[in-house]
Amino acid sequence: MRIILAQPRGFCAGVNMAIQCVEEALKIVGQPLYVYHEIVHNRHVVDQFTKQGVIFVNTIDEVPAKQTVIFSAHGVSPTIRNAAKARGCTMIDATCPLVTKVHMEAIRYARQGYKILLIGHAGHDEVVGTVGEAPGAITIVESPEDVANLPFGDSDKIAYITQTTLSMDDAERIIHAIRQRYPHVKVPPSEDVCYATTNRQQAVRELGEDAELVLVVGSKNSSNSLRLTEIAESSGTRAYLVDDRSEIDHRWFDGVQTVLLTAGASAPEHLVQEIVDDLLDRYGGSAGEAHVVDEHMHFELPLSLRVLRDGQPIRTRAGAGAGA
Ligand code: SF4
Repeated sequence: MRIILAQPRGFCAGVNMAIQCVEEALKIVGQPLYVYHEIVHNRHVVDQFTKQGVIFVNTIDEVPAKQTVIFSAHGVSPTIRNAAKARGCTMIDATCPLVTKVHMEAIRYARQGYKILLIGHAGHDEVVGTVGEAPGAITIVESPEDVANLPFGDSDKIAYITQTTLSMDDAERIIHAIRQRYPHVKVPPSEDVCYATTNRQQAVRELGEDAELVLVVGSKNSSNSLRLTEIAESSGTRAYLVDDRSEIDHRWFDGVQTVLLTAGASAPEHLVQEIVDDLLDRYGGSAGEAHVVDEHMHFELPLSLRVLRDGQPIRTRAGAGAGA
């Protein structure tokens, strides 16, 4: 068997930063340490931190007063920040700066009186957080069909923003429909679908052509991992999303000579390497990296954590605008 290892794959700068936030906070604060929502959408990462004593919660009510709470990489709405502040919690905001950028765009457009079309998946943590920045101004758009049903007219000021982890192709189809219907739409100054999502998708698109089967390592609730699977399938290649090697069904490999292996932005590399070892043990052959795009992005730890680490008082922040 020939295994092509897609580059880039796996952890992005935002996930690295968020995970480092929890690791550092565990050292500084110890237990109990609360994290609002999964820090990143990966079962292994969450399980590992749970074993280390981190308590993941889905509501701020679950965080006792005056405890430390970390907000996940997907960002939160001002309502959540205000609720944590009201409980006297110490807040560490591990929101990816690229999600924060979208929050800031939403706030700015809302202040300027725009109707904001948020291209994304309703219910996803990131989308919920972004909507919370300007709930009266944002309408979620999930498909070109949704655009046809929008109630806004030619006299409305319209702007669009997007979730960071969308399929580039899907986003472009929806943006095209928006521009057709609202030629005067305000276009964001820069792309919202993030560099990590874009690069991992490009790698699958380019390298998938050489493979008979694509394996994506990632969790089922990871938006960018799901998109990688869909992109491979859309070009006619069989693709499976697996959390780890235990989810592989070896009947998938009947007659398969070449496998493309990639990982979503929240999937740890050791899970990829375990799959490589397993496949080579069973089928023999070789594994090699295939570079499509180089990445050099790095995000600093959030100020709230650095201040906590350096022993100075934290100024808690609430209201509009997430910071990372
Ligand atoms: S996938 Fe993109 S937006 Fe999400 S954490 Fe990574 S870099 Fe940030």
